[in-house]
Amino acid sequence: MKQSYNPYDNVLKVVQDAAAILGYSDSDIEAIKYPERELKVSIPVRMDDGTTHVFQGYRIQHSTSRGPAKGGIRFHPDVNADEVRALAAWMTFKCAVVNIPYGGGKGGVVCDPSKLSENEIRAITRRYTAAIAPLIGPEQDIPAPDVGTNAAVMGWIMDTYSMLKGHCIHGVVTGKPLELGGALGRNEATGRGVMFTTLNILKKLGIPSEGTTVAVQGAGNVGSVSAKLLHEAGLKVVAISDVSGGIYNPDGLDIPAILSYLAADRRNLLKDFNEDGTTHISNEELLELPVTVLVPAALENQINAGNAEKIQAKLIVEAANGPTTSEADEILAKRGIEVVPDILANAGGVVVSYFEWVQNIQSVSWTEDEVNKKLKDIMDAAFESVWDLTQEKHTTLRMGAYLIALKRVVDAKSARAIWP
Ligand code: GLU
Repeated sequence: MKQSYNPYDNVLKVVQDAAAILGYSDSDIEAIKYPERELKVSIPVRMDDGTTHVFQGYRIQHSTSRGPAKGGIRFHPDVNADEVRALAAWMTFKCAVVNIPYGGGKGGVVCDPSKLSENEIRAITRRYTAAIAPLIGPEQDIPAPDVGTNAAVMGWIMDTYSMLKGHCIHGVVTGKPLELGGALGRNEATGRGVMFTTLNILKKLGIPSEGTTVAVQGAGNVGSVSAKLLHEAGLKVVAISDVSGGIYNPDGLDIPAILSYLAADRRNLLKDFNEDGTTHISNEELLELPVTVLVPAALENQINAGNAEKIQAKLIVEAANGPTTSEADEILAKRGIEVVPDILANAGGVVVSYFEWVQNIQSVSWTEDEVNKKLKDIMDAAFESVWDLTQEKHTTLRMGAYLIALKRVVDAKSARAIWP
């Protein structure tokens, strides 16, 4: 079902709706509908068994109006041009809503890291970096981790780019290992931002956080850190899932035990995790559980016209990019289910990427407390401004976020004017 949606259509729809509310003409937003630059690359790799395999990869820059393009690199079998395009555009609006000086970009390689050795992943990363090297750079386009990539991959990107240029260039990529200029707090930043945002929306809705039930779809970096920090904040995480399915306990899961099981070996899957009182459920069932908060932290289009009527959560905090289709958004709004949109809820990652880049450029390093405090200030301020505008305009939080973000992008574009 996932394949039948083009996520870029979701982006265009919300941009057009926001433009109508802001009173923009077609000309005002015409250029924003198209990515500025798209590169498709073929990546030949000598596999461990001696054969040659050619992987397909992309780097797409949606906008550089407000600053260099910024956004992660995804390694996943479903990566395709429409997905990368949508992810790049979401980065433009994400950076705008939290007001950091970046445009938006995204990259991806069609591959399944769970079936590749470390040598093969490193070889893909290096050749992909060489192929996109003409586009990236600390002042042009700065990659970061996304689904299927991590700090180690960012370290190899930094090394490959630096080798090609002949000197060390830390600021070309963020989410790096600490020893290569990575920022303290970056690894947990997206989940930490999800936690701050969840507490913010609960407060506005008058729901106490203590004991409030949460289901988290996904146990990658974002899902696992969100579950951990929400659990530490006193919420009751009753369900979590990974690619193999989910586990559910209405009395609350032992999140630290589950996360240490998953962290022990990358082959450990939740389908093999058993604990008293826990039942195994599918990813689809997880989305429809009777919980207060639903945190989709996996891939796009998970909440769609097929299941939006069945969602029982009172509120959805989008930790993933694009987990809700436009059709589902309308259904959820009619049903009175609050949705904190991805471009706001999961912006913590790119905010701390920005902190990392700033530290790299200045050759300074901040403490983890400083990073977390600055992150909280930015997330809280962005949440407040989106909430206030949403109240004023009587619209959804997604629309509130896009009204702020689109205005910032359009204002920057118009201040620069069209060249030549
Ligand atoms: N991949 C993350 C996102 O979707 C982080 C991007 C970044 O740090 O540049 O927001």
